[in-house]
Amino acid sequence: MAKLIIVSNRLPVKLQEKDGKLTYSPSEGGLATGLGSIYKKKDNLWIGWPGMVIEEVDKQEKVIEDIRKDNMYPVFLTEQEVKEFYEGFSNETLWPTFHYFSQYAIYEQNLWETYVEVNQKYCDEILKHASPNDTIWVHDYQLLLLPSMLREKLPDATIGFFQHIPFPSYEVFRLLPWRKELLEGMLGADLVGFHTYDDMRHFLSSVNRLIGYGGMHGWINTGSRSLLVDSFPMGIDYEKYSEVAASAEVLKLEEQYRKNVGTENIIISIDRLDYSKGIPQRLQAFELFLERYPEFHGKVTLVMLVVPSRDAVEKYKELKEEVDELVGRINGKYSDINWNPIQYFYRSLPLEVLSAFYRMANVALVTPMRDGMNLVCKEYVASKLDQKGVLILSEMAGASKELSDALLINPNDINKIVEAMYEALTMPEEEQKVHMANMQDTLKRYNIHHWVSLFMDRLSYVKIKQMSLE
Ligand code: UDP
Repeated sequence: MAKLIIVSNRLPVKLQEKDGKLTYSPSEGGLATGLGSIYKKKDNLWIGWPGMVIEEVDKQEKVIEDIRKDNMYPVFLTEQEVKEFYEGFSNETLWPTFHYFSQYAIYEQNLWETYVEVNQKYCDEILKHASPNDTIWVHDYQLLLLPSMLREKLPDATIGFFQHIPFPSYEVFRLLPWRKELLEGMLGADLVGFHTYDDMRHFLSSVNRLIGYGGMHGWINTGSRSLLVDSFPMGIDYEKYSEVAASAEVLKLEEQYRKNVGTENIIISIDRLDYSKGIPQRLQAFELFLERYPEFHGKVTLVMLVVPSRDAVEKYKELKEEVDELVGRINGKYSDINWNPIQYFYRSLPLEVLSAFYRMANVALVTPMRDGMNLVCKEYVASKLDQKGVLILSEMAGASKELSDALLINPNDINKIVEAMYEALTMPEEEQKVHMANMQDTLKRYNIHHWVSLFMDRLSYVKIKQMSLE
């Protein structure tokens, strides 16, 4: 029987070495959270980097042995590959460009060359496991060339590609010196998926203007094959988040945290450290809120969790300093002996703690400058079992397309964010419940299982349709 092979830059585990012993822990990020329940079934596999450089052959063998029982196979990257492929081309060229931060992008030929080599390395590893008719689902911007590399060796395979970050408008995408090669890489798939309709339109427009392929209703004809481009907004494991939020452990944590925070109003802010998330802008908005509404002094706390991320990349180090400084300045200005306006945590926290944060917050402030989807806002909604709470959400997050019951703001409009905070903190409970219930209905229905089956069904449909088009 044909199997499903999931491929992503990172495996859903993070490998670490403590006192000479290898340890494995679940890795952060939307994708790991999202696909966790799928790859363990039957013969399915997940192939990716385990998150640590291992050069010794015997250690590599040990890792293969350890994770194979969980249906995972590692791709080992050298230190230089991590630097040039992952931190370099993926995170300093593609990430900023795709998030409309092209002023942060670097264009270096040697990084591109390593990106090609590492995509080939993933391809070679997959070929060790794949049969000609398997389904291979490739994820995200680190592996844009992989669909075509696989197509060349496995012409009959069913290949899906999903991009979890935005696809920028043609005017931004065209800035990349390797724009054509990147598109050609993606076009090896049978189905190319994005979170939103806008991302999909931007991709089609770039394909049309840079390669000349046209099509109708998302179909692209390359002359030799047809493929489909479509949008699939990714959901969350709704049940998991609502169940954890109902657990005795989380209830206890919530009670304890509420007591410790001490104010009747709590706003949460949770993201990975990333310039696309708009963390400094959010802090500035909170500062302006405190200035404009002194009646909230001593009555509101911003609980801000920033998860360390990509700290080897210069821009991220600078951002960390900026955030530290802003938090220090705002707390220095407004704190008194009984109240700290911002409680700031720079670390990763376990699910139960996150869940207690979601539960205790009457407002979630999710204001990315640009985000492919954003799962944090969805997890907040799923955790609000009593339906009391308000979501303030950036229009620039993919999730805003589904969550029109949130208070939607433009993250550059600091005045609007301040007013949205005031509106959220003073919103009557009945109104909160109506909006929360609407959002919960949507997220319950379009959960992660729905997303996976929608993508997989569409992929099978494309294969059948291709036969009738040939
Ligand atoms: N998250 C986590 N540990 C933390 C804080 C957050 O695992 O300490 C998770 C969070 O629950 C969410 C994911 O990280 O599922 C973030 O996904 P999102 O799409 O919001 O942003 P990304 O980091 O993928 O850009």
